[in-house]
Amino acid sequence: MRQDPEMVLPELHAEVRPLQIRLACTLVQIRERGRLSFCAAATIEELAGRMGFGLEETRTLCLVGYALLVVEEIEARYDEFRLADLRMPIVGATLPDLDTLLPGSPRAYRNGIHQGFDMNNGHIGVPTAYSGPVIAAKDGTVIRALLDFQEMALDEHAQAIAASQAAGTTPPDILDKLRGRQVWIDHGHGVVTRYVHLSGIASDIAEGVQVRAGDIVGFVGNSGTEAAVQGTRGGAHLHFELRIDDRYFGEGMSYDQIREAGNRIFNIAPRQQ
Ligand SMILES: [Zn+2]
Repeated sequence: MRQDPEMVLPELHAEVRPLQIRLACTLVQIRERGRLSFCAAATIEELAGRMGFGLEETRTLCLVGYALLVVEEIEARYDEFRLADLRMPIVGATLPDLDTLLPGSPRAYRNGIHQGFDMNNGHIGVPTAYSGPVIAAKDGTVIRALLDFQEMALDEHAQAIAASQAAGTTPPDILDKLRGRQVWIDHGHGVVTRYVHLSGIASDIAEGVQVRAGDIVGFVGNSGTEAAVQGTRGGAHLHFELRIDDRYFGEGMSYDQIREAGNRIFNIAPRQQ
């Protein structure tokens, strides 16, 4: 009969109750790190016997597993801390309502993957338009502001798309060009927000400037897109990216997970579907 995890190995490190509660998980963790097979047992002796290890070795491995769990808990709390107080960069906005506007959505035209939220009019719960204000998601320091941005020429844009198609993915330098006029804000602890396709950048924004949450950093636009290259204002939207340790938020997550975590992180009430 399978043991209740709380009852497994009560004699092991008895003063550390979480260890007892989570021992089964601990052993799974060890397996995932290539050390052991999963093995549940009622006593340390049984566990050692099943694994073919000595008692001390088994005890050590369990404690290593426990330490790894502690590290994971600290990491989860670190994320809670460093992602606190974020808000959406358009006042009153929800997460976009369509999967295609979320991170992780394929972008066939450039053979790539979308890395942010596309905040288009009609999809974020509040109206937005070309030149609409874009605000800082949190206090931070501007680390990039393309004040002298020049739109690509038609043939340059076409070449960028063709190069992405040929490469089978979007090379980072091309992706950066396709993002157009951008502002990046560093919020510390590896958290950076990017505001992309802007039509303009607020006059007091420059690299090195400290901003407060809610400060206007720029204005909604379509820079870097084909419509902008053609000289129109079509398709204006804010592309907003949250990066954590230089990975985009949403990488490896399902759309449902992105919505769940996004609503929590950006302190927004879930949309009425
Ligand atoms: Zn986008």
